[in-house]
Amino acid sequence: MLLKRLQITRHTPSSTRFIVAFGATVLVVLVLVIGLLNWSGREVDRFAYERDRSTVSLLLRQTIARIGFAQRSSMVWDASAHELRRRPVNTAWFDPNLNVWFHDLAAIDEAYVLSPDDDIIYARRGRHRLVPAAYTPVAAAADPLVQRLRSILRTRISSPGGLPRMSPTHADYALLHGRPAIVSVKPIGSNIRMAAPTPGRDAIHVAVVYLDRGYLSRLGGHYGLDDVTYSRQPSALASAASVALIGRQGQTIGYFVWKPFAPGSRLIAAIGPILLLGMVVLTCVMYSLASRLARRTVDLEQSRLQAQHQATHDALTGLANRAMFEQRLDEALLRSRRSGAITALLYLDLDRFKQVNDTLGHPAGDALIRQVARRLVDEVRDYDVVARLGGDEFAIIISEPSGYSAIERICARIVAEIERPFDLSGSQAYIGASIGVSFAPQDGVDRIELTRKADIALYKAKMNGRSRFVLFTADLDEDVRSREANYRDLRQALDDPDRQFAVHYQPIFVAATGEMTGVEALLRWEHPELGLVTPGGFISAAEESGLIEVLGEWVLRRVLRDARAWPSLRVAVNVSPVQLRSRAFVDTVRSALDESGIAPGQLELELTETALMSASDEVGQALRDLRGLGIACALDDFGTGYSSLSHIRDFAVDRIKIDRSFVQAVDTVQGAALVEAIVSLASANGLRLTAEGVETEEQYAFLRRVGCEEVQGFLLGRPMPMRDVARILE
Ligand code: C2E
Ligand code: CA
Ligand code: CA
Repeated sequence: MLLKRLQITRHTPSSTRFIVAFGATVLVVLVLVIGLLNWSGREVDRFAYERDRSTVSLLLRQTIARIGFAQRSSMVWDASAHELRRRPVNTAWFDPNLNVWFHDLAAIDEAYVLSPDDDIIYARRGRHRLVPAAYTPVAAAADPLVQRLRSILRTRISSPGGLPRMSPTHADYALLHGRPAIVSVKPIGSNIRMAAPTPGRDAIHVAVVYLDRGYLSRLGGHYGLDDVTYSRQPSALASAASVALIGRQGQTIGYFVWKPFAPGSRLIAAIGPILLLGMVVLTCVMYSLASRLARRTVDLEQSRLQAQHQATHDALTGLANRAMFEQRLDEALLRSRRSGAITALLYLDLDRFKQVNDTLGHPAGDALIRQVARRLVDEVRDYDVVARLGGDEFAIIISEPSGYSAIERICARIVAEIERPFDLSGSQAYIGASIGVSFAPQDGVDRIELTRKADIALYKAKMNGRSRFVLFTADLDEDVRSREANYRDLRQALDDPDRQFAVHYQPIFVAATGEMTGVEALLRWEHPELGLVTPGGFISAAEESGLIEVLGEWVLRRVLRDARAWPSLRVAVNVSPVQLRSRAFVDTVRSALDESGIAPGQLELELTETALMSASDEVGQALRDLRGLGIACALDDFGTGYSSLSHIRDFAVDRIKIDRSFVQAVDTVQGAALVEAIVSLASANGLRLTAEGVETEEQYAFLRRVGCEEVQGFLLGRPMPMRDVARILE
C-alpha cells in the first residue's frame, strides 16, 4: 500500500552485495598471488636442485676421470716395466714413483700394485706402506675390474698389427671399511709396445679414493653445497637433496645428502611476509576507498529514491501525486488494452471540506486530508492506486475489479466511510465524498478520455446532491458537450448582450377582476444558429460558468429601463441563487434602481426555494437588505423544493408563487386540496399569492373560487416582447 511503502531502508542489499564482491575479488587476487609466488618458488628450487644434483654427478665423474688420468700419466715409461719385473720388489723405487706422488698430487688415498699373477707386490695408504693383506677388503670391488681389464688387454694385443691405445679406465664405487670410495684399476706401462711379453700379463695399479670427509668438505667448499654428508640410507627429510652412488652392478653404495640451496623458498621466506603485509595494507586501503565509494553510491541512490519519491508522491498524505497517478493510469490502461480487462477510475471530491478548513483552520484541514487518505487506502486492495490530485480531490485506480457491481460496492463503502465523523483534535468534522466513476475499456482506453468522463460523472454526483457516486453514462457526456458549447456561445453573446439577448414579459392578472397588475421578465436568447432559446437551455450553464452575474445584471438594467414605460405595473425579475450569494448583488440592485429612477416598490425579485433553503447568513442578510430598500421578494416555484407547507411562515418573503405542477393537478382531488391549503396558509400568514402556469379555463375558475389572489399563464397571456405589453395596456 502506498502509505506503507514510504520507508526506505538504510541497508540496501547493494551494500551487502558490494562487500561480498569485494571480499571475493580480494580472495581471488590473494590466492593467485600466493599461488604464483609459491609455484615460481618451487620451480626455482627445482631448477637449483637439479643443478646441484648434476653438479654432484659431474664431480663424481670428474673425480673418476682425474684418478684415471693420474694413474695413466705416472705409469707410461719403460723403467716402470723393468722395475715391475724385479723380485723382490724395489720399494725404494715404488714409493716415490707410484704412490707418494699419487697421494700428494692426485689425492689418491690408497694404492696397490698387482703382479701379472695378481699377487700384491706393493700396498700403500697415504704415505704409509701396508702389508699385502690390506688389499683384501679392496679386492671384492677391485677383482671384477681387474679381470675385465686383463681380458680387454688380451684381446687388444692379440689383434694383429693393432696399434697400442691409451689404456681404458676401469673404476667403480665400493664400500670399503664402511666408507664410500672409488676403486680404479690401470695396467702399468702397458701403453709401451712390448711392455708385457704376454698379452694380458700386465702389472695392474689399483687406486682407491674415499668419498667422505676431506672429499666431501672439498666438494661443499668448492661448489657451495651446504652440509654435504654421506649416508647409507636415503635421507628421511623431505627438504634434503641427495644423489645415489650406484655401482657397476647396480648396487647402491649410499647417498650424498645435502641441504639444498632452495633460492625460491629463501626468496619466499624473505619477501613473503613483506608481500603479505603489503597486501593486507593495500586491501585495507582499497576496502576503505571502495566502501566509501559504495557508501556514496548508496547515499546517492538513497537521495535519488527520495527525490523520486518526492517527485511522485504527495507530501501531505504520502499518496501518489498527479504525475504518478497519470503514469499508473497509463500502465493500467495499457494492460486493459492488451487483455481487455476492466480498469475502474474513481474521481473523488470532498463535500464541505472548505467549510472545515475555514472554520477549524488549515492544520485541521491538513489532518482531515490525511485521515481521508488513510480511510481511502483502507477501502481498496494493496495494488490499487490511491492518489491525491490536489486540494480535496482524490483519484483511485482499481485494476481488474471482479465486476461493475464490485466497484459500486467499493464506492458505497467509501461514501459511507467518509460520512463517518472525523476527529480533529477534539472537534468532530462531518464531511462527505462525491465520486464519479468511469471504466476502461468501456468508456475509453485513453487517459484523457477516461479522466474526463470520471470528472463528468463526479460533476453529476455533486449536482445530484453530493455524498453519492455516479457511474459515467453516455447521456452525461451529451449534457456536458451541450454545456460546453453553451459556455462558449454564452461568453461570446455576452460580449454584446443587447444583440443576442432580449427580455420578454408575461402579464400577471388579479384573479377576481382580470386586471393586469404586473409582468414577469423572462430572458430570451436569440441564438445565431439555434434561434430563440428559452432560459431552461442556458441558465444552468450560465450559473456554472459564473456568467450568470453579468447576465443577471444585464436583465435587471434592461427590465428597469423598460419598466419606466409602465409605472402602474409591478415588474418581477428572476434571480439565480448564484446571484443572491454574491456580496455585490444588493449594491448592483440599488445602483440599477437609482439609475432607472424606478420606485423600489415597483420591483419584485423572484427567488427559488433552493436559494432560500441553503440560506447562509449572507443570503439572509441580502434578503433583509433588499426588503429594506422597499423591494418585494417572491418565493418562486413553491412546492417543488424541500419546503413543507408548514414552513411557509419561516420564509422572509412577501409573495408565494404556486408552481405550475400544482396548478396542473387541480383537476384531481388531492391537487385541488393542496392548492386550497396553500391559499389559506398564505392568507393566514399575510403572504400574497400568485398561481403560475394557468392553461385552462377550469384551472382559472378553480383558482378564482378558492380565492387565489393573482394568476399567470398561457391562458391569460404568453411571454411577449415589450411593445406588445404596451399594446395590451392600451
Ligand atoms: P419561472 O420563473 O417559473 O418562469 C415561468 C416559466 O413558465 C417561463 O418559462 C414561462 O414561459 C413558463 N410559463 C408561463 N406560463 C406557462 C403556462 O401556462 N404553461 C407552461 N407550460 N409554461 C408557462 P421560461 O421563460 O422558459 O423560463 C424558464 C425559467 O427560466 C423561469 O422559470 C426562470 O426560473 C428562469 N428564468 C427566466 N428568465 C430568467 C432570468 O432573467 N434570470 C434568471 N435567473 N432566471 C430566469
Ligand atoms: Ca419566475
Ligand atoms: Ca415559477
